[in-house]
Amino acid sequence: MSKQKFLPMANPDIGSTEAKAAFKVIKNGWITMGKIVNKFEKKIENLLNVKHAIFVNNGTSALHCVLLALRIGKGDEVIVPTLSYISSANSILYCGAKPIFCESDPRTFNVTAESIEKKITKKTKAIMSVDLKGQPVDFDEIKAISKKYKIPLISDSAESFGAKYKNKFVGKQAFVHTFSFFANKNITMGEGGLITTQNDKFAKLLRIIRNQGQNYRYNHVELGNNFRPTDYAAAIGIEQIKKINKVINEKSKIAEFYSKNFKDLNNLFPPYVPSYASRPSWYMYTINFKNKKIRNKVMKALKINNIDTRLSFPPIHLQPFYKKKFNENANRFKSTVDIFDKFLDIPCWPKMGKKNINRVINIIKNNIN
Ligand SMILES: *Cc1c(COP(=O)(O)O)cnc(C)c1O
Repeated sequence: MSKQKFLPMANPDIGSTEAKAAFKVIKNGWITMGKIVNKFEKKIENLLNVKHAIFVNNGTSALHCVLLALRIGKGDEVIVPTLSYISSANSILYCGAKPIFCESDPRTFNVTAESIEKKITKKTKAIMSVDLKGQPVDFDEIKAISKKYKIPLISDSAESFGAKYKNKFVGKQAFVHTFSFFANKNITMGEGGLITTQNDKFAKLLRIIRNQGQNYRYNHVELGNNFRPTDYAAAIGIEQIKKINKVINEKSKIAEFYSKNFKDLNNLFPPYVPSYASRPSWYMYTINFKNKKIRNKVMKALKINNIDTRLSFPPIHLQPFYKKKFNENANRFKSTVDIFDKFLDIPCWPKMGKKNINRVINIIKNNIN
């Protein structure tokens, strides 16, 4: 049997339209942050129906910028799920504060109000929730905790750009949201990030910190950093956001088809989508297996058949740097470690084609017993 063509995890829809838009900016001579960044931000504000959108150079910078603006520093604690990408916790450490990890729900893979509330102390200065796999957390529940203790809620929405919570775009449920436009996210300019907020004063501060802490040229009123994006990245972004609804609708259809085919099978569970997550971004389509052995068997079978998969990122407290720094181990956050042992991301992207979708389904079906 001849080897089937390699099926990747993601394949960004980016091409000549974006290249032309970027070229136009470069030809005009102004390539750093300027009018086009402004234009892109206005377009996002309209799309997401938010008051302020602040474009930055990547999603990690977006988190760092937000924590600086919240004056998070030494002696402070920020609650964050251990099941997230490394930047969620790193951004807290950059500010000198301590990440306080919490568990995630085994069905949604997301943090819950309950798991957050258990970790609140006098030192808690912020709560950071994460929309893992592009599925919004239950913002109303988590916001109630944020209100009760008067602790601001930061949403690391890096994976959920274009997703909807209770039929509204993710972007203004929390006090502040951050997004990422890295190449494997739903829309991209290679590297890029975004912050949204409804608070005028906070938005102004974020813009100052993004630009070396200056309120006007060479007048530095804050400890800022260079979190600036380029105008040609913004030009690509303007073209990309035109595609967001189409991208998510196409991914939703594939996800629905996958889930329909997986729903009555033993030993695996398709993604659980609670009703409040009215439209996940489907950043990833993630299967939950009965145990690690079956997951690994399926992963191997897909690999042999030249189909890419991802184990996603391990819980942050198990990363070597964190293990050493905080004396962490796998006996802590056991139920979250268990989630990581059993899930698997499979390819789900527009234009992957019916034939490939069925290829994935058949291999999984033939290997789960
Ligand atoms: C992608 C991602 C980030 C980081 O974004 P970059 O643009 O790569 O810096 C942060 N948090 C989560 C949950 C992510 O998935």
